[in-house]
Amino acid sequence: MTVLSTQTSSLHFPFDHSFARELPGLYLPWQPQPAPAPRWLRFNHELARELGLDADRLASDEGLAVFSGQVVPPGAQPIALAYAGHQFGGFSPQLGDGRALLLGEVLDPLGRRHDIGFKGSGPTPFSRGGDGKAAVGPVLREYLISEAMHALGIPTTRTLAAVATGETVRRERLLPGAILTRTAASHLRVGTFQFLAARGDVSGLRRLLRYTIARHDPALMDTPEPALALLRAVMERQAALVARWMGVGFIHGVMNTDNMTLSGETIDYGPCAFMEAHDPDTVFSSIDDHGRYAYANQPGIAQWNLARLAEALLPVMNLPEAQAVERATALVNEYPAIYRACWLTECRRKLGLVDTADASGDQALANDYLQLLHRWQVDHTLGFRLLSTVLRTGSSGATPALAEHFGAGTPALEAWLERWRCRLAQQPGRADEAADRMDAANPLVIPRNHLVEAALDAASTDANLRPFEALLTAIRQPFDATRTGTRTGTIWTQPGSPEQTRGYRTFCGT
Ligand code: AMP
Ligand code: MG
Repeated sequence: MTVLSTQTSSLHFPFDHSFARELPGLYLPWQPQPAPAPRWLRFNHELARELGLDADRLASDEGLAVFSGQVVPPGAQPIALAYAGHQFGGFSPQLGDGRALLLGEVLDPLGRRHDIGFKGSGPTPFSRGGDGKAAVGPVLREYLISEAMHALGIPTTRTLAAVATGETVRRERLLPGAILTRTAASHLRVGTFQFLAARGDVSGLRRLLRYTIARHDPALMDTPEPALALLRAVMERQAALVARWMGVGFIHGVMNTDNMTLSGETIDYGPCAFMEAHDPDTVFSSIDDHGRYAYANQPGIAQWNLARLAEALLPVMNLPEAQAVERATALVNEYPAIYRACWLTECRRKLGLVDTADASGDQALANDYLQLLHRWQVDHTLGFRLLSTVLRTGSSGATPALAEHFGAGTPALEAWLERWRCRLAQQPGRADEAADRMDAANPLVIPRNHLVEAALDAASTDANLRPFEALLTAIRQPFDATRTGTRTGTIWTQPGSPEQTRGYRTFCGT
């Protein structure tokens, strides 16, 4: 049911609507359901300023009315986007924004276009029986994790505002409701192309192809084979993105094709979490029974999803079908090499390696370290972060801070450190410079699962936002040891206890 807003607002968003203008058939105009008793959870001043919006005015009662769906600001044209998608391998020809709405796009002071939209603003024609709502916990999880990703320098959608609606939503139990306002380079996803391909809508696909290239790859505008060129560009962005995820131990949790952007931003923070003890088989999502989206599977799943994008693009490749299939297959088969190069770059960054002569030697060095982390159940984040202590102290072996995490594995660590030091000695530059580079690549602070849970719990059950605020402040400076201390003993850097970590499960928040 839609409740049309009757209030008005003088708040001005300089909205443009290129999606609505150029992509008929890919959305339905719709209105948010006004929240009955909204209350601020958080407004992202820093992001508002980056977007060129009037942060102080938006962080007001007027802003609260807008971000709770009570007032549709002038210039907004809310639409629910249509898309399809493979979810856990099974295809749904119609998913779409079942609880989200795009309000419009703004151009930031640098001329970059950003979508601004709601998540949790009520049912839409795409809700498929769902309530269209979101709960405070998952909304604040998305806020925290997306801000952490941004601070880590990993491409991501962001959160402009989070408000509690004053309404109760029914999940396994009753939970306080919330609306998140998300910004994104765009909401174009693999599933957007799949939606039109599933309907055999070739002219729609052509329009979408043109639009996507204009928005994300304008340099490819006049390329002779735009569909293949776009596919390659998306492959490169996704390979780079997933390599960054793997570097920080991030597990997305629901890498369905409707949750994979064409922009290369991380999107749709559901059951995501950061791995603590390094284990390639780590799965957190309560719905991922078979570990399809386990940590180590993410690069391969990205390729699987890109193959689905390739299929959707076949009708607009302007080639006879057999030839289109052959070219697309050959391109998708290049993905493992593209990913390997991104992953090697990431591994080198983490190990302080700059010169690039011995690719296979460097990758083997990194792989062996990852195996040690796994074998001795070392925290992924600290296992990398504390490596630089070896260089800083000029220690001939492991520092106590690092060895503490390896326990009985310390002799194996020592042997590996010896190899690493030999490799470092072959490159130009001093050890302390390598240590500085490493500390800018290996975070000290990630959103630890037990801290995230405690923050969400306090916000949901007691409306106490202090733990959330404190954690948000910490994760915004992930590399900065001066604030949190280099020791591993501060609450922001310590891994969860075995009781906190064992059987940790995350829920989709749907
Ligand atoms: P997600 O897991 O958030 O990527 O959502 C997958 C699909 O389910 C999308 O089409 C969502 O719009 C839809 N969906 C998720 N949660 C809800 C909800 N509470 N009500 C309606 N649709 C939903
Ligand atoms: Mg989604």
